[in-house]
Amino acid sequence: MNDIDKQFPEGMEPLGKSVFQFRCGPDVECYMSCCRKLDLILYPYDIVRLKNRLSISSEEFMRSHTRLGSSSHPFFPAVMLMMADNEEQCPFLDKNGCTVYEDRPTACRTYPLERAVDRSPSRGRVNEYYFMTKHPYCFGHQEVKEWTVRAWLKDQRVRHYNALNDLWAEIDTLFAGNPWQGEGAGGPRQQMAFMVCYNIDGFRRFAEENKLFDQFKLESSFLRILVDDDEALLKFGFEWLKYVLAGQGRLIRK
Ligand code: SF4
Ligand code: SF4
Repeated sequence: MNDIDKQFPEGMEPLGKSVFQFRCGPDVECYMSCCRKLDLILYPYDIVRLKNRLSISSEEFMRSHTRLGSSSHPFFPAVMLMMADNEEQCPFLDKNGCTVYEDRPTACRTYPLERAVDRSPSRGRVNEYYFMTKHPYCFGHQEVKEWTVRAWLKDQRVRHYNALNDLWAEIDTLFAGNPWQGEGAGGPRQQMAFMVCYNIDGFRRFAEENKLFDQFKLESSFLRILVDDDEALLKFGFEWLKYVLAGQGRLIRK
């Protein structure tokens, strides 16, 4: 039975509930070859997880491990992981494998799947679709271990990342509408938005200096978490950007 209710171009078949074969591990011949010479986009939550994993500030992480890249629109850049060793390999790879495995970025945990999201479904819900990526160097597809998409996402703990990435996607959609009011790229509003999305420690200082949390009606339980939790602060930051850039979102002024 076909569980996909959306049409895709020929050659792009979402996996739906079908089973696929894949296994990765140190005993697979190609082990670590996918961690070299990568164009890997980092989402805001990826950066929060990685900088906390490395016990460095978000400024230090951005300076040492990222570069800017092109996004799907001209009004806000993408942030890319910078390769190390003359751009040969991921900076978090050592001779035994990934040194940040529990906090590896979304792209690494989703691979070999890719996710597409339909944000304008007819029945009022957001639909997601997963596609198989096959690179010639990856022998994991020849392994006999079987998965469904659901089992893979659970095993790789992708769902939580997707939830945060979907919040980011809403913000990026806002940026795609050029909300900078004629300031252009790199203007003060865009720099502030960049800080919220990619420099969570800088945003925390900004929020404290400007008593930002005091200006809005926030649940006391959320307020308590907000004080030292970067994930909660990122969620607040996304809502605050909606508020200041478009007068949208859930924040209500006191
Ligand atoms: S290339 Fe594929 S099988 Fe090999 S290490 Fe990477 S993900 Fe695993
Ligand atoms: S973060 Fe880990 S899994 Fe991802 S490319 Fe780097 S070493 Fe590989």
